[in-house]
Amino acid sequence: MHYNKITSELVTELINIVGRSNVIEDPEKLETYAGDEVPEAEWKHLPEVVVKPRDVQQTAEIIKMANREMIPVTPRGAGTGLAAGAVPMLGGIVLSVENMNRILEIDRENLFMVVEPGVTTGEVQQRAWAEGYFYAGDPCSADSSFIGGNVATNAGGNKAVKYGTTSRYIYGLEIVTPTGEITTLGGKCVKSSTGYDLVHLMVGSEGTLGIVTKVYLKLLPRPLHNAVLLVPFEDMQTAIDVVPKIMTNGGIIPTSIEFMDQLCIKSAEGFLDRPLPFSDAGAHIIIEVEAYTKSQLEADYETIGTICLENDGLDVFVGDNRASQEKIWKARRHLAEALRVTSPVYCMEDIVVPVNKIPAVLAEINRIAEKYSIKIPCFGHAGDGNIHATLLKENMDDATWHAVKEKVLDEIYTITHASGGNLSGEHGIGAKRVKAMAKFTDPVQLKMIAAIKKALDPNLILNPDKVIDLA
Ligand SMILES: Cc1cc2nc3c(=O)[nH]c(=O)nc-3n(C[C@H](O)[C@H](O)[C@H](O)COP(=O)(O)OP(=O)(O)OC[C@H]3O[C@@H](n4cnc5c(N)ncnc54)[C@H](O)[C@@H]3O)c2cc1C
Repeated sequence: MHYNKITSELVTELINIVGRSNVIEDPEKLETYAGDEVPEAEWKHLPEVVVKPRDVQQTAEIIKMANREMIPVTPRGAGTGLAAGAVPMLGGIVLSVENMNRILEIDRENLFMVVEPGVTTGEVQQRAWAEGYFYAGDPCSADSSFIGGNVATNAGGNKAVKYGTTSRYIYGLEIVTPTGEITTLGGKCVKSSTGYDLVHLMVGSEGTLGIVTKVYLKLLPRPLHNAVLLVPFEDMQTAIDVVPKIMTNGGIIPTSIEFMDQLCIKSAEGFLDRPLPFSDAGAHIIIEVEAYTKSQLEADYETIGTICLENDGLDVFVGDNRASQEKIWKARRHLAEALRVTSPVYCMEDIVVPVNKIPAVLAEINRIAEKYSIKIPCFGHAGDGNIHATLLKENMDDATWHAVKEKVLDEIYTITHASGGNLSGEHGIGAKRVKAMAKFTDPVQLKMIAAIKKALDPNLILNPDKVIDLA
């Protein structure tokens, strides 16, 4: 596919659409839009221009222009992605939704919140809570990620064990199609059997099938009480073995079951600059439970605590107030930053396997780490099989890092695939995993993805080099 460059005439046209202050050409300012949270230089690329539309009409005009002129467009939320999905690898336009940042409606009768895509996840959560409701999406990046980005990546997070991922709360989306048309898919109806489920085709499509300009989010009743348990274990195997026991023996579905291995515990301790309990333990598990009554909550965390102790948990720390809970969660929430301090260049993976396969896959990852003499701390969402194996570059020159990383990733993906797992549980494919996607996806499914992409985006202008490389 041949793409054209942005000319000064096109910049003038963009200024006419969104206004001078919403077009960025200054190379220094463009830097901010060259990457997301993937730290490696190969996943950074300067856009030729950044545009920040204020509404759906402006967005549609930009996309029509891009089709006419054959300019690639990369939609961008907050840039907290971990798959280089918002990186303009082919240059062209970065279309940032940061100016579309209003909460439009709280519908108390139907329990919906309608928002623009540039509202942060944290603001959605806080507003829902303040209104007496609950928004269940909760990526660790909630303070900064945008809800539009959460939709585009089908973000998961800490509460997915009980509440599922973002897709479960999306009932309607206003989008601009890759050819610049405006439409609203779904809305406030809680069920639909009316043709293809286009809402959920968009969710997780990583900005390749449309630009999300409005989101209809389902709200839930607010859970009244919660508690957070921190349980250290001698080793990772023992820790992970307890997860299916909690899920099946207690009759309780925890909100979260998270794990951190020994390398992660030490990194978090260094980053927070305070000792963590049992910091020499092989693994920590964090479990959160919620209930509508205090007595039910106490009964639930007693049951879970007992299961952990009966299965070799070294101790059980209970956080039953906001301060103690925050203290427990802080170590887990800041792991990405903590690992970055340990090794400024790293490669965070996002494999997902059936829960009962976690111990075997973690053992394989340890074996691979030893084979290639590389540190691979692992943490993640034990309750839903999502492992963030993170390769650290520490003390390697660039050439060695690239060579080792390629081999290690290939081996990790191979064991993931063989375990019935997938490349990404929540971060997406982006640009970073396109080659692996081609290798580890059934060719029939690749053909379906290619056909959908070509049908909706015949000029391949919308995030063309992401998920599948057709450009
Ligand atoms: C510290 C940290 C912790 C994290 N924890 C989690 C976690 O627990 N769970 C999780 O799932 N992720 C997590 N992430 C990854 C990231 O925050 C999520 O992928 C998030 O959903 C990205 O949102 P964003 O607004 O930053 O999107 P961006 O990074 O800007 O974009 C991500 C993708 O979405 C597309 N996109 C963005 N906005 C739109 C739109 N309006 N329309 C169409 N396409 C769009 C982009 O083109 C790109 O492909 C974490 C990241 C960090 C740095």
